[in-house]
Amino acid sequence: MINIKKSKAPDKVFNHKDKDIKDKIRNDFFVLCYICEEFVPVHFQIDHFKPQNNFPELKNNWENLFYCCGKCNGMRPRNINTDGNEVLNNCIDDVEKLIKLEYIKKTKKIKISSEHNSVKIKNTIKLLNRIYNGIGVKNSKAPYYKRVEIKKEIEKFEKLFEKYKKNKFLFENSIKQRLSKRTKSLNSNYVSFKRQMIDYHKFKQYFD
Ligand SMILES: [Zn+2]
Repeated sequence: MINIKKSKAPDKVFNHKDKDIKDKIRNDFFVLCYICEEFVPVHFQIDHFKPQNNFPELKNNWENLFYCCGKCNGMRPRNINTDGNEVLNNCIDDVEKLIKLEYIKKTKKIKISSEHNSVKIKNTIKLLNRIYNGIGVKNSKAPYYKRVEIKKEIEKFEKLFEKYKKNKFLFENSIKQRLSKRTKSLNSNYVSFKRQMIDYHKFKQYFD
């Protein structure tokens, strides 16, 4: 999961389906899905962090609008963020520090962990297990395909990192791009996974 600092709410009355509103959210979230971190330039959706059905008054509330891929929007539980089902909020909580994500080559699954143990963290881990590992999702190939994409991105990054170790000058910029959320290209796909593969202290200057 990625930390997001949302821009100031628009001054005017708006609808969450307005094009300029969607563009603003897209920009704030670096074109990355707030749940799975996939780069989604086209088939994105605006998700209501607190669901519309339970919180109709928050339908056009700026703080409640999140950038999401269609797969996560379809797979996340309907009762998310209702009483007792609250998850971490990317725009408020330091999700990058709280949640650790790792692709396990042997099992081809995603390990999701945290050093903390609050209800929100437990629910977030459960949500991510659903999205990445398909736990609790029926008849959907989406988690499998997501893991295939994560594996590809990780392998690309590993290869690049080997090159970088041999020639720091030549490959520094490519490494920087793949560790940044702001590249707004496929290079920023699954950025948390890549950040957690390397030494934080050596590369933190690239973490935005
Ligand atoms: Zn997603």
